[in-house]
Amino acid sequence: MSGERFRDGRERIYEFADEVLVVCPGCGGCAVVSVVRRRLTCPSCGATREADGSALMYRAPVDPVFRRDVWLRADFRGHLLWAYNARHLEYLAAYVGARLRERGGDGFRPHTSMVERLPGWMNAAKNRDALVRAFARMRATLPAWASGDGVTREEG
Ligand SMILES: [Zn+2]
Repeated sequence: MSGERFRDGRERIYEFADEVLVVCPGCGGCAVVSVVRRRLTCPSCGATREADGSALMYRAPVDPVFRRDVWLRADFRGHLLWAYNARHLEYLAAYVGARLRERGGDGFRPHTSMVERLPGWMNAAKNRDALVRAFARMRATLPAWASGDGVTREEG
């Protein structure tokens, strides 16, 4: 997953959080939370949960709706490495693995992007190879149904 060049398309964290993989409250396996529908479903045990309209929480290693622990997580030298889903993981892995990082967006998206908010230890060149391996370990925990670039697509 390492490459020479990564172009920051100015994505924000919300753009990766449409469907979030979490630890299932029923079986401890991998379940998915649809943030739009505010619904948790587990393909393994059939558990479902519905949420009301409480505020969404981002930038923490939990889903924005139910605040359950995300499925994709790994310890990295005392830091927690985490991702919402396969797409978020691959984006982070591409960023971390790149030797050259460019700011994209051409001024049309002047906010601070998701990758600009990453902690310093994720930006450190000395951590690059070990981080790429940690992402590979996280990728290996994805169930087959969640390993594509989208999780199960649902109509909003
Ligand atoms: Zn389950």
